This record gives sequence, structure tokens and C-alpha cells, in this order.
Amino acid sequence: MVTVALVTGANKGIGFEIARQLGDKGITAIIGARDEERGRAAAERLGLPHVRLDVTDAASIRAAAAWIEQEYGKLDILVNNAGITFPDGPPSQSTTEEARQVYETNVFGVIEVTNALLPLLRRSPAGRIVNVSSERGSIGRTLDRDHPLWPMLNLVYCSSKAALNMITVSYAKELWDTPIKVNTVDPGWVKTDINHNQGIKSPEEGAAPIVAMALLAADGPTATFVQHDGPLPW
Ligand code: NDP
Repeated sequence: MVTVALVTGANKGIGFEIARQLGDKGITAIIGARDEERGRAAAERLGLPHVRLDVTDAASIRAAAAWIEQEYGKLDILVNNAGITFPDGPPSQSTTEEARQVYETNVFGVIEVTNALLPLLRRSPAGRIVNVSSERGSIGRTLDRDHPLWPMLNLVYCSSKAALNMITVSYAKELWDTPIKVNTVDPGWVKTDINHNQGIKSPEEGAAPIVAMALLAADGPTATFVQHDGPLPW
């Protein structure tokens, strides 16, 4: 039986690479993209299906879920990858307008997409949800003087990823007694548009721990926060 995955924000960056790696394993990895043409172009490069999906647009989420149900009747893997940020700066200079924009995508979008797709994930014998978070959402790391992450916090982005981590745990607890596993992964500092290509890892390297979580075996963990070499503090 075909294994079906949906990757949000998969027209470029880490999401594109997640879809490519899943596709290489014979999985039908659907490219979710908010722009129809960018989605189509990415899908054509990979020979994979695509669906228009703006995670901030409830109508597009409903339409994408309906299309997946009609085409495949279920969903096995959901990767909530789409994310945005604003430039770093001191918390005292962040604005609620920036926060609203970032939260619409990084937080509310994840809830809306997950709730829309959960009925299809429940039809899978081994549903997996992977939320793409960041080490910068780790409160433990942020407070750890031995891990001086960044000279200035980005209140909006970091708090959106910390919220995403709690959202991950919340879903994992609700789904505790089902086959569905819900985990959150930091890809590392990856060279993509979100950081003006200043990262040090390739998208291939960044995608690898996310794909590993998407392909967890039945005895794998749920409600974990990891990066390439193991668990991160919450
Ligand atoms: P990119 O900017 O390269 O890609 C972001 C993707 O998200 C694009 O496909 C973008 O689409 C999409 N997107 C943005 N807003 C929406 C929306 N409303 N609906 C649907 N898709 C949307 O960044 P990355 O690949 O680096 O980021 C992927 C994830 O990894 C993010 O969640 C990010 O926070 C996380 N991350 C990245 C790190 C890094 O170092 N790169 C480190 C830690 C975490 P479009 O092309 O239309 O803008």
C-alpha cells in the first residue's frame, strides 16, 4: 500500500529536501506550497504531487485536506515545516505586529493544518507528525550559559518555536493511545533563504533528522524534541 506524506512549505529550502528524501524512499510526498506555480515547479523537479496550501488560510487548508482525502483516502506522514521569521533584535524592539505574522504561520498554521489532517492520519496504520522547530525554541538551551546561542534573542521567532514544542507535546498526549507519534525536530543551522543562506549545514543535512522522525518504527518515541545527534532540552 502506498505511503502518503504531506510536507508544508516544500517548494524550497528544508521542506523541498524533506520531500525529496521521502520521495527517494518510494513515499508519495506531496509538496505543499502556498504559491501554485512555485509548488508545481518544485513538484516537477522531484516527480512528486503538489497541492496549494497556505497554512495561514483556512480555506486553502480545508481544500488541501479534501483533495488528499479524495486522491489517497488517508495520510501517513505530516511534516509541519512552513515557517517564517523577522530579523533578530532585542526583545524590547519586537512588535506585536511581527509577532502576529510569525505566529499565524509558525503556531496557528500548525494547529489548523494538524486539526484538518488528523482525521486522515487516524486512518493510517502508522501515522507520524513531525513539527519543524528550532534549537532557538529551547528554553533550556537559551538559559544555559555554556551554550551561548545567539547574542540577541529573537523574541518572536524563539517564542513561536517554544510554543510549537508545547503544541507537539499536547498532540502527543492526546494521541498517546493511538499509533500516531508526534515529535519536534531542530534541523540545525541550515543554509536557506530564511537566514539569507548564512547557515552552515546543507538542506540535505538539515532534512535528515526530520525524515528520520517521519519514518519512525512502531517502537519509536513520541513527544520528543531532537536534533541530529540526540535530544534537546525543552
Ligand atoms: P525557507 O525560507 O527556505 O523556506 C520556508 C518555506 O515555508 C517556503 O517554502 C515558504 O514558501 C514556506 N512558507 C512560508 N509561509 C508559508 C505559508 N503561510 N504557507 C505555506 N508555506 C509557507 O526556510 P527553511 O527551509 O530554512 O525553513 C523551514 C523550517 O525550518 C521553518 O519552520 C524554519 O523555522 C525551520 N528552521 C530553519 C532553520 C535554518 O537554519 N534554516 C533552523 C531551525 C529551524 P514561499 O516560498 O512561498 O515563501
